[in-house]
Amino acid sequence: MIIDLRSDTVTKPTKAMLDAMYAAPVGDDVFKEDPTVNALEVKVAKLFNKPKALFFPTGTMANQTAIKLHTNPGDQVICDKYAHIYNYEGGGLSFNSGVSCNLINGDRGMFTAMQAQKAINPPEFYHSPLTKLIAVENTTNKGGGACWDFNELIKLQTLAKANNLGFHLDGARLWNALIAKGETTQQYGNLFDTISVCLSKGLGCPIGSVLVGDEDIMKNAIRIRKILGAAMRQVGYLAAAGIYALDNNINRLSDDHQKAHDIVSVLKTQAFVAHIEPVETNIIIFALHKDIDEQKFITKLANKNIKISSMGAGKLRLVTHLDYTTDMHTEFISQIQKLDI
Ligand SMILES: *Cc1c(COP(=O)(O)O)cnc(C)c1O
Repeated sequence: MIIDLRSDTVTKPTKAMLDAMYAAPVGDDVFKEDPTVNALEVKVAKLFNKPKALFFPTGTMANQTAIKLHTNPGDQVICDKYAHIYNYEGGGLSFNSGVSCNLINGDRGMFTAMQAQKAINPPEFYHSPLTKLIAVENTTNKGGGACWDFNELIKLQTLAKANNLGFHLDGARLWNALIAKGETTQQYGNLFDTISVCLSKGLGCPIGSVLVGDEDIMKNAIRIRKILGAAMRQVGYLAAAGIYALDNNINRLSDDHQKAHDIVSVLKTQAFVAHIEPVETNIIIFALHKDIDEQKFITKLANKNIKISSMGAGKLRLVTHLDYTTDMHTEFISQIQKLDI
């Protein structure tokens, strides 16, 4: 038994998901003739109460498309210093859209409307880049699965509107936030101009993300996706996994959250742990005491068939997910309790 807690992306499709994929009717999606892709797009658009949705191979491409839709070269995007679009998309926003970021020094990947307001360049001051977009991430990845305060998002929307700025949500793990906070997709659809969501993280699909948005902004989304090289053909097989996941794998995310909380209670009692960041969903970020060698710690666990990852700067990360079973959970907790460091 290998216990893999590196990421919620390590899940493999279940038999039931594979059956749904095999059974999917397909067609050429470039002609918009794949009924399963069309069904997935309609389903996600309806969920968020938005007129348009488009299927993407990755969340990165969905975010990159959104940024391109909201900006022109030379413009500036406001986001947190921890943002995935800034840190983990290969510098794509400067490569694909020719934009820069005004990074906010937020808290666990989240910032306030007040901070965002200060980051807006006055549009008449032509020496500065023109601010065009506010991008937020919920839950935050580098921030340890933290969930935004919905009231702050409302304030940010008001700010974006008043300043003619686009408002994009990187919702790769929005499902986790909805379950943890008891919020709805409609609430988010009403706030943001564009939202990207991942099907291949907590929901357990092998691939897939969806970008939803308003009619106007989404008009060119299919063109940008084509330019980025993802005009796809019979991908209904993949979209079928998405439909299956949306119907079956959202509510169960609370199990992942519960397991993460269980792990925290055990880590808290261990002498080798120096610090644990607040845990709200399925990501646990913790630090070891300075005199403990991080690599040795990771190897020690690897020798017990437990995989965890390092985030650098002395931080370690655990992520619970669909394939992290109750048996694995019991075994992991017992291994942590008897670990001699
Ligand atoms: C995983 C992730 C993405 C997209 O990742 P892909 O691997 O390209 O699907 C985007 N934003 C956040 C916050 C993520 O965690």
